[in-house]
Amino acid sequence: MSNSEVAKCPKDKLPEFAFIGRSNVGKSSLINMLTNHKNLAKTSGRPGKTQLINHFLINTNWYLVDLPGYGYAKVSKKAKQKFQKFITDYFEKRQQLVSAFVLVDIRHKPQPIDLEFMQWLGESGLPFSIIFTKADKLKPKAIETHVEDYKNEMLQFWEDMPNYFVTSSSKHIGRDEVLAYIDDTIEEVENLKA
Ligand code: GDP
Repeated sequence: MSNSEVAKCPKDKLPEFAFIGRSNVGKSSLINMLTNHKNLAKTSGRPGKTQLINHFLINTNWYLVDLPGYGYAKVSKKAKQKFQKFITDYFEKRQQLVSAFVLVDIRHKPQPIDLEFMQWLGESGLPFSIIFTKADKLKPKAIETHVEDYKNEMLQFWEDMPNYFVTSSSKHIGRDEVLAYIDDTIEEVENLKA
């Protein structure tokens, strides 16, 4: 189901996990890897097109939510504000949201837009994990260094490094770990309800 407004998202109460990150970070590829589909999530395309929240029902027990990519350099201030409202609305209103995954390209140094977004999630009391993408582009030693740099940056603002996953959609790395985490979290939520 695709929606342009939070109010129109699925009404059932299944737990959901949201995926978000800068455009081109590898979100569509990751979603396709996680779900074992070649083309479930479309590659994000050009800026300015209609921004949609996509709900994919997985195994009839949870929703994978594909949120639009942020951080287009070329959009107007007005478009940026509209987009921000759209995203904050989703995070603030969606009771079913269990946790978010913020995707970051493992090759890049921590970027202000990602750090600010995570800061906002934290201040809003919204749980999230980091998913490092495109790990196949670095050698194992460099992966370690980049994750370590990220940790050091995060620890300037946070007491702990958030939960994180190292993934590569082209090499099928990290799939089991992310899915196991989602399964465990759903179970925890259900136990809390029981
Ligand atoms: P989105 O805009 O965040 O949905 O990103 P896409 O999934 O469309 O990927 C953006 C670009 O990065 C495409 O050219 C992909 O082929 C490439 N890409 C995505 N994931 C990986 C990965 O794990 N490894 C490598 N090497 N390239 C990737």
